[in-house]
Amino acid sequence: MPLFETIPVGGLQTNCYILTAPDSTECAVIDPGGEPQRVIEVLKAAELELRYVLSTHGHADHTGGVAPIHDELGGQFYLEESDVFYSVDPPDWLVAALGGFVAPPNPDASLQDVQSLGFGSSAIQLIRTPGHTPGSTCFLIDGMVFTGDTLFRGSIGRYDLPGGDGRQELESIRDHLLVLPDETQVFPGHGPSSTIGEERRSNPYLAGL
Ligand SMILES: [Zn+2]
Repeated sequence: MPLFETIPVGGLQTNCYILTAPDSTECAVIDPGGEPQRVIEVLKAAELELRYVLSTHGHADHTGGVAPIHDELGGQFYLEESDVFYSVDPPDWLVAALGGFVAPPNPDASLQDVQSLGFGSSAIQLIRTPGHTPGSTCFLIDGMVFTGDTLFRGSIGRYDLPGGDGRQELESIRDHLLVLPDETQVFPGHGPSSTIGEERRSNPYLAGL
């Protein structure tokens, strides 16, 4: 089970997920949106070696803690290039809500076009799901998919923010997430987890897809 810990961070309680690589001391951090010191302490206490810092998209509540973690512990930083503009100049209300936002570093160019990232004896698959933002990306590993703000338990991400596209978001969910096996566990960027089967059956936003 690669999921090591879930830490809700910042004023918007973004789910920051820490994954450990099978058969390795490597770890990956998904969406450290704030409170970087909490994340750093967990990684140090567990003596994990940071391999990747992965942001599902560029909204500040998913990137605001990347820089301090990356500066202190290294690792490669993934954020889809088309989402970088969000974190260069995030809206004031969002920065205020987060507290302690630090603009993230430039994403690691070598990760931009890849489909999968080696991770211990396994791999993290990158699934591009534009809609909530142009660069929204989900991460799939060992029957778990980390969906950011694309798919929530019983809901979907808003698409009325700059760069959002509701039709594209639903197409991304239909074509790239609902094709996964029913038992695939869904870990969203906010709120409780679910499964693909549960969302297919009961998520009202997906009815008729
Ligand atoms: Zn978002």
